[in-house]
Amino acid sequence: MEQEFEKLKKEKEELMQMNEVKSDLISISAHQLRTSLSALKWILKMFLEKDLGEITFEQESFIKRALINSERMTTLVNDLLTLNHSEDNKIKFNFKKINILEIIEQTIFEFSGETKKKNVEIIFIKPETITPPIEGDEEMVRVVIQNLLENSIKYSFKDHKIFIALKYNEKNKNVEISIRDNGIGIKESDKENIFNKFFRAENATEKDPLGSGLGLFTTKNIIERHHGKIWFESTPGSGTTFFITIPTNTKQEINSK
Ligand code: ADP
Repeated sequence: MEQEFEKLKKEKEELMQMNEVKSDLISISAHQLRTSLSALKWILKMFLEKDLGEITFEQESFIKRALINSERMTTLVNDLLTLNHSEDNKIKFNFKKINILEIIEQTIFEFSGETKKKNVEIIFIKPETITPPIEGDEEMVRVVIQNLLENSIKYSFKDHKIFIALKYNEKNKNVEISIRDNGIGIKESDKENIFNKFFRAENATEKDPLGSGLGLFTTKNIIERHHGKIWFESTPGSGTTFFITIPTNTKQEINSK
């Protein structure tokens, strides 16, 4: 029994060490990749802007394709970095009292360019009562709101409205945020895979070729480290609503993973 326990303990330590090496490796290579990719994009843009002389129509279309692919890689690298940060238990979340209403307002503002481009409108339904601060890691909670809003914009149809509502639940001592779009929706058979790493539904890939399929996996991970919940309701072709709850009184994260 004693021996078995020691063996398991040793195996766990080895796994944790391997995980640390993996996490450092992802972080270092992702940062290197990001630097090389921005140099590559800069060169491709110089060609497109004809800074290096005239180019033919055919050359332009190839360079545009290369640029789209390098943008896809940048998205992937950025999402991998965020995922690594959220998954790495060595990186402690910096829990403090944060104003969720302010974070939502700021995130909506950050997406102004995107919403203008797609002519979609984000409507923020604020709570009737004062919302107490939530206990959370500000940067990570921002990532959650960004990911969900970004998806609702990406998968919305042009000229549509997106509703984001914030409610405080006095009884459960948590805040509930819902984000509703009238976009492409999620097929019944895809629903069980939505939170899986790298999963992208076919209708999503058609609508937006960029995207890594890491956003929702990371979002769920962050919400769970805040002892919250995430779920969704969706009708294919007519829209999706994501719901999250975050407790207002999580004292510390439980390092149970
Ligand atoms: P990405 O958006 O980069 O593909 P995510 O992890 O954020 O990755 O989302 C995973 C998949 O979930 C998406 O590819 C899409 O199929 C589906 N999805 C997420 N949000 C929505 C939404 N608001 N409407 C429709 N499908 C969605």
